[in-house]
Amino acid sequence: MIDWRGIDTVFLDMDGTLLDLHFDNHFWLEHVPRQYAGRHGMALDEARRVLMEKYEAITGTLDWYCIDYWSDALELDIATLKRDIEHLIAVRPGVERFLLALKDSPKRVVLVTNAHQKSLALKMENTGLERYFDALLCSHDFGLPKEDPAFWDAVEEKFPYDRARTLLIDDSASVLESARQAGIGHLLSIRQPDSKLPPRDALPFPAVDDLSELLPVA
Ligand SMILES: [Mg+2]
Repeated sequence: MIDWRGIDTVFLDMDGTLLDLHFDNHFWLEHVPRQYAGRHGMALDEARRVLMEKYEAITGTLDWYCIDYWSDALELDIATLKRDIEHLIAVRPGVERFLLALKDSPKRVVLVTNAHQKSLALKMENTGLERYFDALLCSHDFGLPKEDPAFWDAVEEKFPYDRARTLLIDDSASVLESARQAGIGHLLSIRQPDSKLPPRDALPFPAVDDLSELLPVA
């Protein structure tokens, strides 16, 4: 599926790629609606409806991924609420084997996430994955989400990389599409980002179930 000889840099998404997206889905679709309903004195169904509208209005923007934005908009302490359910943060199957093999290879391995710095810190603290990476890049530091093709130019200024020899693995089709437009040469998706939801069919990019399917790293 991958010719490793043609790749010297690996960009890896975090949520839904390295980590089970169940944490994030449960957080935004269950935990936040319950807290929001309590805070604003409304029924759970009503809270869900209001929140869905707020979510849809800014999907794919940097604010969508911003803890501070949501803390203000919802009048909830989002960072603290995430800690309430941190026991749900889980590394996907095969990920540690894959990261270990990459670490033992000469390739550069970079985490590239839209997650807010506080979410990134919480997840690294709970999983210990930080040790596998040469760098952790957060889109909030670039002022652009990964969904914007200009994001990949902004990364290059801070972290020079050869696009043709770079592999991006990301569960988001819109992120992969933006990377394709920016000229990143190798793109892979994840079939089942949330372990509690069924695998996805007919994805627009080649996809794997378990990252260890990509081993050995040549
Ligand atoms: Mg993701």
